[in-house]
Amino acid sequence: MQRSETGPFIPARERPSPRARRVARSTSGQHRREDEVAFRRVIRSRLLRWYDTHRRDLPWRHRHTDGYAQLLAEFMLQQTQVITVIGYYERFIQRFPTIDDLAAADLDEVLALWAGLGYYRRARNLHAAARTIVSEYGSRVPVRVEQLITLPGIGRSTAGAIASVAFGVRAPVLDGNVARVVTRLLAVEERATTAVVRSRLWAAAESLLPENRCGDFNQALMELGAVVCTPRNPGCALCPLCSHCGAVSEGLTERIPVTRRRAVVRTMPLVVAAVACGSTVLLVQGPDAGLWAGLWALPSEPVADRESLGAARDRLAVRLGACCQLNGTPDAAISRLLTHRQVTFHVFRGQASGKPRMTELLGVPCRWVGPR
Ligand code: SF4
Repeated sequence: MQRSETGPFIPARERPSPRARRVARSTSGQHRREDEVAFRRVIRSRLLRWYDTHRRDLPWRHRHTDGYAQLLAEFMLQQTQVITVIGYYERFIQRFPTIDDLAAADLDEVLALWAGLGYYRRARNLHAAARTIVSEYGSRVPVRVEQLITLPGIGRSTAGAIASVAFGVRAPVLDGNVARVVTRLLAVEERATTAVVRSRLWAAAESLLPENRCGDFNQALMELGAVVCTPRNPGCALCPLCSHCGAVSEGLTERIPVTRRRAVVRTMPLVVAAVACGSTVLLVQGPDAGLWAGLWALPSEPVADRESLGAARDRLAVRLGACCQLNGTPDAAISRLLTHRQVTFHVFRGQASGKPRMTELLGVPCRWVGPR
């Protein structure tokens, strides 16, 4: 981390010259505090003014004092962009208008409504958190960060966002967007994932918070990171913090935040059986853990290293049993990039003779599903 004798909050442009630093040493403690106070004050007022003018009209902001709406939005926004979340949020809030509705719902229905949003563990955690809030907090989303982080799927940053936005608690947020803004603002030239740097970023995010409007301030930081201080080509010319930004004054905006080299993307081929029986298709439920945990999907088998598609298809056909006949060659190949995996589904159509009574297949629950 870029250190300065005047403390972590003074970006390079604002830092005094060596001579000024020598002069200041005699009264350094007092000066440092004054500089930092002035720096924080200007960041707060510029950022809040910018937010008042530029904030996006997002559906959960219409219910910003509603803990349930914020909880729902924050779960969905973990690892996912706002533009993708909006439709899902609106469908969820329509189907489950209160936390009691969500807690009373079947997990399968929650997972089905979540389908396509990815990171399905979030849906399970959301459902479990709703049930805990109903049973242990009388259906009221807890106000304090210490309570919120005991709920499944809620870390310190999500807890800070819910507590500050819904309840005005003075709690910091340090999601990916905020971390990027703060590391650039302070010209932090170290990876933000190490424990030492993380803890300094948390301290910075906390001390930047104003006395009032903490929820707006956190949202402003997140919004700035999402739309202006983007990972590549940040829009510094449009940024309200530009004249106080350490990365700009040191010409480091493209080098900060410092990231680890990208993990190698592994390929993951699967053979998939689309077995029809009349107007229904056979689905199996995934195991409790792992990728797609608990989700209903077409039966599949991974293709082993150096294994041919035909051999993997034969293995799948054996497991499906004699009542299901699969085509000999794939009918489609669909590829999707997950975080570190390029998954390719090689789909083999098939037919079932009669309608086999199956409740378990490949060691997991299965069912025939038709159009609704
Ligand atoms: S000036 Fe540029 S790098 Fe600095 S916070 Fe703003 S957008 Fe990010």
